Amino acid sequence: MKNNEALRCLLCKKPKCSLQGCPVHTPVPECMKLYREDRLDEAGKILFDNNPLTAITSLVCDWRQFCFGHCVLMVKKMPVRWYEIEQEISERYLLSCRLERESSGLEGRRIALVGAGPVGIAAAVWLYRAGADVTLLDANERIGGVLRYGIPAFRLDKKFVNAYERMFAEAGITFQGGVEVGRDITLAALSAQYDAVLIGAGAERPATLHIPGEERALQALPFLKDPSTYGLGHKVIVIGGGNVAMDACRTAVRKGAETWIYYRKTYENMPANPFEVEEAQREGVRIRVFQAPVEVREDGIVFRDCQNETDPETGKVVTRILDGTDHFVPCDTLITAISEKPDWSLFAGSEPLWNESHWPVVDEDLHISVPGCDNIWVAGDFALGPKTVVEAVASTKVAVASILARLGVHPRDKETTEN
Ligand SMILES: Cc1cc2nc3c(=O)[nH]c(=O)nc-3n(C[C@H](O)[C@H](O)[C@H](O)COP(=O)(O)OP(=O)(O)OC[C@H]3O[C@@H](n4cnc5c(N)ncnc54)[C@H](O)[C@@H]3O)c2cc1C
Repeated sequence: MKNNEALRCLLCKKPKCSLQGCPVHTPVPECMKLYREDRLDEAGKILFDNNPLTAITSLVCDWRQFCFGHCVLMVKKMPVRWYEIEQEISERYLLSCRLERESSGLEGRRIALVGAGPVGIAAAVWLYRAGADVTLLDANERIGGVLRYGIPAFRLDKKFVNAYERMFAEAGITFQGGVEVGRDITLAALSAQYDAVLIGAGAERPATLHIPGEERALQALPFLKDPSTYGLGHKVIVIGGGNVAMDACRTAVRKGAETWIYYRKTYENMPANPFEVEEAQREGVRIRVFQAPVEVREDGIVFRDCQNETDPETGKVVTRILDGTDHFVPCDTLITAISEKPDWSLFAGSEPLWNESHWPVVDEDLHISVPGCDNIWVAGDFALGPKTVVEAVASTKVAVASILARLGVHPRDKETTEN
């Protein structure tokens, strides 16, 4: 045992860190005990079976919101840093892991996974082990989704993503890169060729500001995908307050730019992991709050001030844009990172039923209603909107359990996906 932090864990019988704090209910006390006994391989297998991305979630989760924030020792302001221990166990396990068939329940069944991000990776592990013939398709050339093409290497070492590439190649899982479903092949064709289709195509379509000159702005996701191809100039302004905005500004700083974040609301409203905000500031990013962009010009941006007001009817605090406060801020590059949505063009030629908010109709098992195609499920950001890696894995678990049930797998064979 390298990390003495493990000795502080109370091994709770009803661990809040796991039951309430973790979307995938990581079995913390069980693995903590094994760690104390130096039984790292056993702990690694339990963690990987429950969450094949455990080596990555232990690095990128906002643990204050999840396990750490729910530790019973929080009352004494000394919560246990389980994520450090999880990282140590899981990194070791992942980097030498070989996938093996654990059941033959799905032998001869063909399953297509659209998107090779966290959803595709977790589903490939579980379904391959259950005996299925798995094919991963992705518009990108390599496996990983946001883990490879979004989160920068200074936050997530790509050796973790490469480990799945190696593992899948060794196991004979087919990966078809550069294939865009909806353009190169229809969903209906996949539905006909495979016994089940799981869509984990993420949320990559950027939301727009709806202001004049917006086309001059650079979108954060293409920038993060290949920052080396963009010349930014001296001063960069990033608009947004989420994880994507933080990664974009921290990447711009590394390219030598004077970098600012302009955000419409307060610091507390920023959806980014607070740790990422602190890191960005420590690295030199400057932040201005209560600033709404109203026009993008060739040499800068016009902002309008905002302020918080309490709505007298609802009692809710709302942010109002204040007329007459326009001011011009010069910059060389504007990067927008305000939000993303799933790209529904994937459904071209195979329209699903839509609900009143124009989202596909999906049941609680994440089975989606596409007329004429009864074997399609969705998970991750494509189903939930932009969330987190661990929530993508949790939703994949639901969809995979439903696929297994539909394909008639005996409950005993499902243990690996449901424990
Ligand atoms: C910059 C950035 C930073 C983030 N930071 C964090 C963080 O620190 N912690 C955290 O927990 N979460 C973070 N997130 C969120 C997290 O990465 C996502 O919630 C997670 O990756 C969702 O997984 P997914 O499998 O649903 O989608 P994705 O990871 O987006 O993968 C979707 C895949 O589908 C493919 N695809 C899309 N359309 C098609 C198509 N038509 N045909 C074939 N393939 C297609 C894409 O190429 C992509 O590879 C971040 C997100 C971004 C963008």
